[in-house]
Amino acid sequence: HPRVRFAPSPTGYLHLGGLRTALYNYLFAKSKGGSFILRIEDTDQSRKVDGSVEALVKDLEWAGIQCDEGPIVKGKYGPYVQSERLNIYQEHIQKLLDNGSAYKCFCTERRLNILRRDAVRSQRTPKYDNRCRSLTPDEIKEKMDSGVASCIRFKLTSDCQYFEDMIFGGIAYDVSLNEGDPVLMKSDGYPTYHFANVVDDHLMDITHVLRGVEWQISTTKHLLIYRAFGWSPPQFGHMPLIVNADGTKLSKRQSDVKVEDYKKNGIYPLALVNYITLSGGGFDHVPGAGVRLKTMEDLAEEFQIDKISSHPSRLNPDLLEECNRLEIKRQLKDDQLSKALVKTLQDLITKTYPQHKLNLTEEHVKTVLNWSATRISRIEELVSKKFGFLWILPTNKAEVDQKLLVKLVKNLEGLERFDQVTLKENLRTFSANNNVKFPALMKMLRSVISGLDEGPGVAEMMDLLGKNQTLKRINAVVQ
Ligand code: GLU
Repeated sequence: HPRVRFAPSPTGYLHLGGLRTALYNYLFAKSKGGSFILRIEDTDQSRKVDGSVEALVKDLEWAGIQCDEGPIVKGKYGPYVQSERLNIYQEHIQKLLDNGSAYKCFCTERRLNILRRDAVRSQRTPKYDNRCRSLTPDEIKEKMDSGVASCIRFKLTSDCQYFEDMIFGGIAYDVSLNEGDPVLMKSDGYPTYHFANVVDDHLMDITHVLRGVEWQISTTKHLLIYRAFGWSPPQFGHMPLIVNADGTKLSKRQSDVKVEDYKKNGIYPLALVNYITLSGGGFDHVPGAGVRLKTMEDLAEEFQIDKISSHPSRLNPDLLEECNRLEIKRQLKDDQLSKALVKTLQDLITKTYPQHKLNLTEEHVKTVLNWSATRISRIEELVSKKFGFLWILPTNKAEVDQKLLVKLVKNLEGLERFDQVTLKENLRTFSANNNVKFPALMKMLRSVISGLDEGPGVAEMMDLLGKNQTLKRINAVVQ
């Protein structure tokens, strides 16, 4: 049974990219009866934002992702927050010092800056020159005795530079060519990301690491650390960049879209999750089959890691709207969910038109919702300018033919049925009998009952509003 982890830094809120990482880890685990672990990587204390762990867990749960272990649902591998594991890192760094894979480095910030500056001047990639590797035991002791601050670095070697990426296939990268020996422990006693990440993945029995492609060049470094400990590493898979539909990079604004903002804007969790999988892949693709909304259970059952492409994932915002539309339809078919939808819409209506004392029945609101299912992708649209006529009597500016409308009211009052088909037929006859062109009659009527120049069919609107409301609106312009 695989054990996977989502290991965010608590630097704010969950964003779309983070949700994708969490989701694919979760689906991978659930597709194989495994566990999904949440680990908080807060070793950079300066970037920590208060309350973000709670916010993260809340966003994950909203999206339908339950943690099997983590800071809140504790398991036997805890603590799950890195700042609570400092003693574990101390203990482990000692092992690497003892077996000669790591060494103390006393270089000052000043020296490192000079190295960096010289490299930039001569157009080389700045990298640490590994000077402290060759300190003698006496030199080390002397520096320690005189209280010089030190960090601990890892001795990079140039072997172990290849691995099989579950998504990208064979990856070869020799870190030692591009980097100096990396710091594992900072002088303040906190581990760096690389060290804590490897130690924790090992101690938490993580079997598969799925993360963003930006971490791919770190993986061979991590593999060297595993080997230095004599541990067998997990399998690694990296997820491609998320890009716009046209292949361009997401702007800062887009890539920073918070999960919470989608929620605030009327996007449902299942829609968001399906949207992510539509761009990210991981499923058998039936060409031309259209969008099908999958439940979390379907997603977990059908997920196949080898169906994730290594090409950048293109986001198509139209698909998000489509998914949300399908989700609204799905909810409408379910007794309980549709009750909740009706309630949401009723609250929205009350909030949007506070001055109107609207007394809308649940049944009426539900009828309108059912009607709207092919027209909207967010419930909020139903209280927009376009659909406001559904609830309130619009202010009407069109010229009206009072006499004609009086006749029309009489005619409509006589109708026993008030459905679209009956109305259409009746209005045609009425226009013929009264010598008024049908399109002109419709134009006037549309304006009277909706205040709009365009929209759904006139008979359709009348049907939706019902006889009382329709007559009330026509009478309102007839003195
Ligand atoms: N803490 C890292 C992040 O914020 C985790 C990377 C990884 O999964 O190894 O993305």
